[in-house]
Amino acid sequence: MPVDLRSDTLTKPTPAMRAAMAAAEVGDDTFGEDPTVLALEERVAEVLGVEAALYVTSGHMGNQVALRVHSQPGDCVIAHSGCHIFNYESGALCAISGLLPRAIESADGTFTPAQLREKLWPDNIHHPRNRLVALENTHNRCGGTVWPLELHEQVCESAHELGLLVHLDGARLWNACVATGTSPREWTSAVDSVSVCFSKGLGAPVGSAVCGCAEFVKEARFIRKMFGGQMRQAGIIAAGALYALEHHRERLHEDHDNARLLAGLVDQAPGLKCVPPQSNIVMIDILSGPDGQPPRVSAQRLVELLADDVLAFTTGEYRIRAVTHLDVTAADCQRAGEAFIAAMRGLA
Ligand SMILES: *Cc1c(COP(=O)(O)O)cnc(C)c1O
Repeated sequence: MPVDLRSDTLTKPTPAMRAAMAAAEVGDDTFGEDPTVLALEERVAEVLGVEAALYVTSGHMGNQVALRVHSQPGDCVIAHSGCHIFNYESGALCAISGLLPRAIESADGTFTPAQLREKLWPDNIHHPRNRLVALENTHNRCGGTVWPLELHEQVCESAHELGLLVHLDGARLWNACVATGTSPREWTSAVDSVSVCFSKGLGAPVGSAVCGCAEFVKEARFIRKMFGGQMRQAGIIAAGALYALEHHRERLHEDHDNARLLAGLVDQAPGLKCVPPQSNIVMIDILSGPDGQPPRVSAQRLVELLADDVLAFTTGEYRIRAVTHLDVTAADCQRAGEAFIAAMRGLA
């Protein structure tokens, strides 16, 4: 079996998680009567230091519900050009909520208050309304990069001064916390809403939460229903999420250690260079040859050559993304790294 580094969404529930799910008390959550869903929502709100939380089917649903609660059709959402909300949510912000994306460019997914101000439309009847800024931490497409907390606070403060709301796409906020030794509350205190995933590094099979003040979550519950995202005996899956929240947050540092281990090995492969990983995502670049010769292999071809030993996705013509997670051990990363070295030596 190849080591599967395509995504941290690939994890399967552990035996203990399955036992918790099998034993879950359930009820009809659309009537507000599923005790396990209520317990999950209460607990995740407590961990994040916010008033309330809503269990949703996916991070995508959580983000889109939040955008809709915060906006009117025609409003402008400012975010990084590579963000999940603009790139990987099937155009939902335009299709479902009539919102206009406005992108900030940067190498690592972060931006400054000055970069935010540059994107504002003048306040008059000709232009879309500046409504919302969306942050992403860790930043998926930029390679699991972590915002500096101080910059996050500065951008939130500027956004609020400018009359904008702030949504944090925290699908991997748990990784950002472990990578920086910060608590979730430090990231949520200055935002108007936050979404977090249970189904990525935490290893639960289903679901995310979208969180904020009580009034926000009340409206989010209505919008979730409008989008068809209400569930019935969802305690079965919420139990997996609750188990993951309680038992799998601390271990994320193992995924970060494994990402560094993998990157260290891949860097020994001739013609490859990793962006030093900040969390559980490793971006592997295929370098140009000496004297500006083209790279000796494309990312797609290298992934094909590795397929017996490692599975990974390409994210560019000469870039591969590998993601560590709950179901990948240090020994797996060792094997994967050695496979990269062998493949590149074979091409030399
Ligand atoms: C994975 C991801 C999401 C949403 O994930 P779902 O697959 O819809 O649960 C949202 N934002 C970011 C940054 C992600 O990486």
